[in-house]
Amino acid sequence: MMEGQNGIGHLTEEDVEDVQIRPKWSNGQCVLALPTSSTVNPTFDLSQCRAKLEDDGFEIPVRDLEVPLKIALDVPSVRRYMVFNSALFHFIFAPILYMVVWCAVFSTLHIYITVSDYWVLCLSVSLVAIFITTTIIFILHHSNKDIDMNLDVRLIQVNERMVKHKLLVAVADWVQNCNGNMKLYFVYWDMSHCLRSLTETLEEQSFVAKDLEKKMKRRMSHLVLVTEVNPEVGGSDMEQDLDEQRPLLGEEEISCSTTSSQREDTKVTTSYSLFPDESLPAQAKAYQLLITYSAAYMKLLVSQRLSNHRLRPRTNHCSAAPLCLCQYIKRKILQ
Ligand SMILES: [Zn+2]
Repeated sequence: MMEGQNGIGHLTEEDVEDVQIRPKWSNGQCVLALPTSSTVNPTFDLSQCRAKLEDDGFEIPVRDLEVPLKIALDVPSVRRYMVFNSALFHFIFAPILYMVVWCAVFSTLHIYITVSDYWVLCLSVSLVAIFITTTIIFILHHSNKDIDMNLDVRLIQVNERMVKHKLLVAVADWVQNCNGNMKLYFVYWDMSHCLRSLTETLEEQSFVAKDLEKKMKRRMSHLVLVTEVNPEVGGSDMEQDLDEQRPLLGEEEISCSTTSSQREDTKVTTSYSLFPDESLPAQAKAYQLLITYSAAYMKLLVSQRLSNHRLRPRTNHCSAAPLCLCQYIKRKILQ
């Protein structure tokens, strides 16, 4: 993320030549949707993905495509999370939850209440079970619309590299015909317009800088990564976690504390905030915000879950959705 000015400069330089090479793509257009190889062990065939992207004119080196994607997604704990957080799992989970809640409420009420008409009791229990199940499913569904710390945040480092090639990636899924539909999406996105617009907004609001910082801090306060690092015994998972967070290490470090001096317990706990550093110029802040929310926005875009509220077309840089990335960020954290 902190490639900073170089990244921004690079982005602008590529504008002209890319428009000439790939005039057929527009912002928000899905270039490739790569399905998972298996529902219970979701992995993506990245070699196939490279070939398909090359066919579409996107020549992306291995260090910008396979390497960051493997670090972000090809980890056992992340694959498990993808299974248990998938739409298909929620789809199967709902009736099971309903049955469990129904039995629990029925057995509880049956002990304390004696009724002559069993159908009244059954009807009441069914209504309570439906209410509890719907509430839990609604909460799960609603939390899925927000930025996902285990997937979207892991994809930040991928998008940081992919944005140079005018592509952004996201993992999205939903249930279609009783089948899970989890895919890795590559969406065409020219960041320069959003970057310019968000930078202007941040500069315009600079006269209320303190209020703005407070508002952004409050809304991004949950975006904190906590990592336990054992310098003596570095497991492969831990190394991958560190790789994932490396771009944030330099300038975003908040605290670093050694919890024990004993050899076996020597652990360094470090927290990293995704909130842009206050001393950064407006353009660098805007760039960091755009990259931070890129995967979360793309997930909502491809699964058509963006708000239907139509904004003025001239400020929308996306042809495929009513809300573009910079507008999404403005609504999410600046308003
Ligand atoms: Zn925009």
